[in-house]
Amino acid sequence: MKFSHKYIIIGAGSAGCVLANKLSENPNNSVLLIEAGPMDNYSSIKMPLAASTLFKNKKYGWGYETEPEKNLNNRTINWPRGKTLGGSSSINGMLYIRGQAEDYEEWEKAGNNGWSYRDLMKYFVALENNQNHEDQYHGNFGSLWVETYRPILEASRSFMNACKEYGLTKNNDFNGETQEGYGQYQVNIKNGQRFSASDAFLKPVLDRPNLHLLTNTLVERIITSNKKAIGVRIRNKQGAQIIGCTSEIVLCGGSINSPQLLMLSGIGPKEHLMDLKIPLVHDLPGVGKNLQDHLTVNVSYKINKLKTFSELMKPLGMIKNVFEYFTQHKGLMTYPASDIGIFFKTNENIKTPNAQVHFAPGAGKYNKNGAMKPSSGITASVCNLRPQSLGHLELISSNPEDAPKIFANYLDQKVDMKFMIEGIQKIREIFKTPSMQELEAVEIEPGTHCINNNDMEEFIRNESLSVYHPVGTCKMGHGKECVVDDKLRVKGIKRLRVADASIFPSIISGNTNATCNVIGAKCADLILQNTTA
Ligand SMILES: Cc1cc2nc3c(=O)[nH]c(=O)nc-3n(C[C@H](O)[C@H](O)[C@H](O)COP(=O)(O)OP(=O)(O)OC[C@H]3O[C@@H](n4cnc5c(N)ncnc54)[C@H](O)[C@@H]3O)c2cc1C
Repeated sequence: MKFSHKYIIIGAGSAGCVLANKLSENPNNSVLLIEAGPMDNYSSIKMPLAASTLFKNKKYGWGYETEPEKNLNNRTINWPRGKTLGGSSSINGMLYIRGQAEDYEEWEKAGNNGWSYRDLMKYFVALENNQNHEDQYHGNFGSLWVETYRPILEASRSFMNACKEYGLTKNNDFNGETQEGYGQYQVNIKNGQRFSASDAFLKPVLDRPNLHLLTNTLVERIITSNKKAIGVRIRNKQGAQIIGCTSEIVLCGGSINSPQLLMLSGIGPKEHLMDLKIPLVHDLPGVGKNLQDHLTVNVSYKINKLKTFSELMKPLGMIKNVFEYFTQHKGLMTYPASDIGIFFKTNENIKTPNAQVHFAPGAGKYNKNGAMKPSSGITASVCNLRPQSLGHLELISSNPEDAPKIFANYLDQKVDMKFMIEGIQKIREIFKTPSMQELEAVEIEPGTHCINNNDMEEFIRNESLSVYHPVGTCKMGHGKECVVDDKLRVKGIKRLRVADASIFPSIISGNTNATCNVIGAKCADLILQNTTA
């Protein structure tokens, strides 16, 4: 082995950056952070509206896609993941949402002690630097910049009026007392630019002498001896080498790469590893299973009375906005994935909102390269917050360069399809309100021809998309299919933990990034409190 560090963290993403920061606070801890991708100093990462141009960018992303999805008319679905400092927080939609208290109560009820919302609240608050809310739900002294996106664009204001006319309640803080209602999103955008996990937690501490960063370096395998993790095999421009670890290795590679790396290291479902001739270290059947993701479908309208993104960005407008961005960090180039949201229940028997809307004053479709091709219109995309369908991952070979096969298995459960239809119906109702009629809103998608359930189902199978929130593939908990315990320790292997979106016991009711930051912070506490791994 070459040289040794006390802690090795694999992956500088949403969780890994927080963990690296916390573990290296003590100068006696030598921490090595290994990232497969390059530094994040690329202008399209910083510019919020450029996010979708990164979805298929091979330098800064993994560019995954699912296998043909049988319930989506055999379409493959884009699954971008960040591959740079900040991980997916460097390419994501920048919306800051925590989910619902009830999500974490479920986690705790499943036997995960210390994971209730009450327990996690201290981390959300400590990490946050909220610019608009000062109360018991928010922090104002943390490193993660959070602000309410402004200004409100004209079409967005009309949509909010429509929500009010429809009878929805205004919510000024989706991360406060309750999530339900309509309102403006909070975002990780500072001074008009993306503020990733790398900006918040890693860059400010990179000069610590005990924090070592390796970029452009792929971890190919975790080395074990007698079921104890002792090092990693890495590959970069200098070739392959093995690096030893004296205390603990933490895998923060995200929902696809963490289970992939466990399996490549011989930790996973026995039969699958035997098929691929990967020497078995420990049989853990749940690795790569329990995959959940939020599926969404766009409902879009052409409006005649107001300019939407497409008109505002016609060549001269585009030049004006780019100029405004580079000179003042203002204008449409600062726009996140969405500015207005709704959380609602598709029926009153449900206790808490099961639907989320991402509204944008634009319309369009993703092209083959994953980038958005805009068209005239506005869009309310409705997603199922608590899907029942479960997918899984499979390796195709023992080669670390080969992407695993992703079976998202969307709409496998009938209730998930029922949800999508009900969600679309609700949006259509909102578009019937006077504020939308004043704009002369005409439905583009699903389209007025789409009337009965069969039409709707076909539309959903043809058009629905991922919200890019895969979780659960190294599930935390007690059952046979669980991969880590509630201290994030990999079952059956000493000195190895997983801390990222893959450990979610069940998907949360909202966007997943803030929770990944919290998982990184909590993992640091678990390690530093000496829960031996
Ligand atoms: C396009 C998109 C839009 C999204 N929009 C939002 C949003 O608006 N709001 C929100 O809350 N969430 C959003 N999300 C989800 C959110 O960003 C993710 O849930 C979160 O970033 C996942 O964090 P993570 O720590 O699990 O993994 P990641 O942040 O993906 O980090 C994993 C890191 O590990 C590295 N890595 C992996 N394998 C290896 C290896 N073998 N060797 C070395 N390094 C490795 C990767 O390169 C990566 O940098 C979005 C995600 C995407 C992709």
